[in-house]
Amino acid sequence: MTVRGRLAPSPTGMAHLGNAWAFLLAWLAVRSQGGELVLRMEDLDIERSSVVYMQMLMSDIRWLGLDWDEGPTPEKEAADWHQANRFHLYREALERLKEAGLAYPCFCTRKDLMVAHAPHLGDAGYAYPGTCRHLAREEVAARLQKGQPCSWRYASQGTTYHFADCLHGPQAVRLEDCGGDFVLCRADGVFSYQLAVSLDDGLMGISQVVRGRDIMPSTARQLALLEALDFAAPQYCHIPLLLDTDGERLAKRQASLSLEALRMRGVTAGRVIGLLARIAGLTDRLEIVHPRDLISTFAISALRREDYRLTTADMHWLEGRGHEPDAEQ
Ligand code: GLU
Repeated sequence: MTVRGRLAPSPTGMAHLGNAWAFLLAWLAVRSQGGELVLRMEDLDIERSSVVYMQMLMSDIRWLGLDWDEGPTPEKEAADWHQANRFHLYREALERLKEAGLAYPCFCTRKDLMVAHAPHLGDAGYAYPGTCRHLAREEVAARLQKGQPCSWRYASQGTTYHFADCLHGPQAVRLEDCGGDFVLCRADGVFSYQLAVSLDDGLMGISQVVRGRDIMPSTARQLALLEALDFAAPQYCHIPLLLDTDGERLAKRQASLSLEALRMRGVTAGRVIGLLARIAGLTDRLEIVHPRDLISTFAISALRREDYRLTTADMHWLEGRGHEPDAEQ
């Protein structure tokens, strides 16, 4: 079976080194297995997403020397690969979950949730205490009838989800350990990341997911939805995060580490890939590299597991200060 991976950026800001890192590893994981790569624009958050960022993301991916087989391109729109155009599919999936008794309306307001939650903040946020799951049927009907705003939550079945992460090994997680009954659709009608990603991974036949380890707490929720919607689970690989020189996670608001800003400072794609490859342990010294040169020796399970904090020397090397490379590309 052909491996199918995905690049799934949210076009809510300029791509930074951390995005380049995730794109490179997801791309190598697919290309080293002769697979196919989908580009999916995760523009669910319509207000924060922009066409300008989508265009920039696509040109950044190409600038890095990476490519994709399906999805939009800078030259051609491909509506089906934009989550903003897939709400009808998410709506249908939500109806299926409701019919299966796996979704229930939740009338809790943000304020109710703040008060109700014990101060136990894990990676996945506060655990929902299940307040609305136990409302009497008649009360639910009456509230819905009155048009009281509600979100829809997944009704956990207490299952333990097992998956073998390529880097972190066997995992066994219950939804109760990562936030409990999670939101499928918000009260304002916006579908949740969990629902959209699970359905899209299923419908797009994704068999390999390579993404940051910060998303690992979502995996059990996505496995629950994939199973409920009758899709096979992909293989997951949660890669370490790149941290800035202060040890903070890279974020889109750190404009100075955006690929655009680096390019403006004269940084070449060959140096960006060279640095990322060195960090990943794919090369044994800092050198200018093209992604295609890494394909033949790439093995995802051999990647480092620990987050990496960029150093001042790394930044100097990117800018061409310090070690002199043999040839620029
Ligand atoms: N769209 C998410 C992001 O840009 C990635 C989601 C995923 O890989 O599941 O962080």
